[in-house]
Amino acid sequence: METIKLKLKTPLWTGDIDTRSDIVRASGFMGSLRWWTEALMLGLEKTFVCDPVSDGRCPEKMEQQKKEIYFYCPGCLLFGATGWQRAFKIRLAGGKSVFNGPPINIVPRGRTNGWRLGSGLWGEIDLSVIPYKAYFDPVLIMLPLLVATRWGCLGARTQHGYGVTDIIGQAELKVEATAFFNQLTALKTMLPSGFKIREEANSFAMPNLKEMFFTKIRLSTGNNWWEEVDGIRERGKRDQNDYYRGWSEDLRMNNWIESGSVPIAPAVKNWLRYGGGKVLWEKGDQNFEQNVANWLFGSTKTLCPSCYGTVREDNRNARNYFCGYCRKSFPKEKSINKNAAKVNVSCAYPVNNGQWEFRIWGWLPPEDGRFEIKTMFLNELKASLEGRGKAPFPFGQLFGDKASKGGLSVWREFGSPRDTVSPDNKDYLNYLDSLSEGEEGC
Ligand SMILES: [Zn+2]
Ligand SMILES: [Zn+2]
Repeated sequence: METIKLKLKTPLWTGDIDTRSDIVRASGFMGSLRWWTEALMLGLEKTFVCDPVSDGRCPEKMEQQKKEIYFYCPGCLLFGATGWQRAFKIRLAGGKSVFNGPPINIVPRGRTNGWRLGSGLWGEIDLSVIPYKAYFDPVLIMLPLLVATRWGCLGARTQHGYGVTDIIGQAELKVEATAFFNQLTALKTMLPSGFKIREEANSFAMPNLKEMFFTKIRLSTGNNWWEEVDGIRERGKRDQNDYYRGWSEDLRMNNWIESGSVPIAPAVKNWLRYGGGKVLWEKGDQNFEQNVANWLFGSTKTLCPSCYGTVREDNRNARNYFCGYCRKSFPKEKSINKNAAKVNVSCAYPVNNGQWEFRIWGWLPPEDGRFEIKTMFLNELKASLEGRGKAPFPFGQLFGDKASKGGLSVWREFGSPRDTVSPDNKDYLNYLDSLSEGEEGC
């Protein structure tokens, strides 16, 4: 058994959506670990990971030389599927509730509904890994863990800023990408008779590390700057209609701040999705704007699988929905429920010499003819964070006067000219090593 200590830099959410997360649940954490591990695997040549939506979950059964053979992808071999026990389990211990009581509803300027943020956990967590199978090598989850802690977030609700962690002692941890790749290759030779590795063409609907981007943004701040953040600060006058009392006096928010981070994601997401940041992804077709936003920033509504527009009941067929954009009726089971956000914004956390940092990161599938905004959006986002382009990032407007100076500190993206450490690097294993070591350039 191997135990890893995680320091929670922003609250960790391990529960399911809509439930309180004041106890550590291994299942929520395991889900994100699977997501990261599969994203790393999908970047490797000739590695197939099943997409439950388009490929069907493993196993695939086939008869070869009059014997039934079961085919599993490496994701299922590690994390389990029907007829195949997962290769390891994890145990989580530690962490404390950030606050007691119901979620805080943060409503940035211009919104009527806000972002509801529940407590989550802070402090330190012990993550123990218990192997079940001989072929399980911890490197298979250590490399994804390092990439996630250095660049992304763990647990659930990462789109709302939860889950930035540090592995304590990560500087001494060396996990090489070739070791990860070799273990994955070794899996194929270690399967019992009657079982084989499933190999097909991958679905573009699955998050692939090669299609992901990671950024870190730094802020220079003054004391108690968080009190001025949009959605946390008070707005208007008491007794007037548009008065918003803000959260700076609220004990729950004060507990959140004391736990070591500032929930800025609502302010940033509001600007990106509805405010001045819209020009970073808009293409000029206003009828379609809502659909692009549903696709990019996620939606809890029921959506059309072709255009990501919201659908209504089909009055001619109770089993169908009708999409007003496509002018088409389709079976309800084909619809998209709760489309996950492709862009995540973390809470801000302190780094050094009075500076704070936050992350914007995510996964966008390759341009597939649907919206064709990936290149444009990422170029514009980078320019914005560098204070250039169509809409320079408005630090002061979103975070207040005490945090009005900031900018992009690093951008990582595989094989991309936007990567600020090793632009256009098309050596995947080399890129993985650079990510896991936390290389940020100078
Ligand atoms: Zn599978
Ligand atoms: Zn449609």
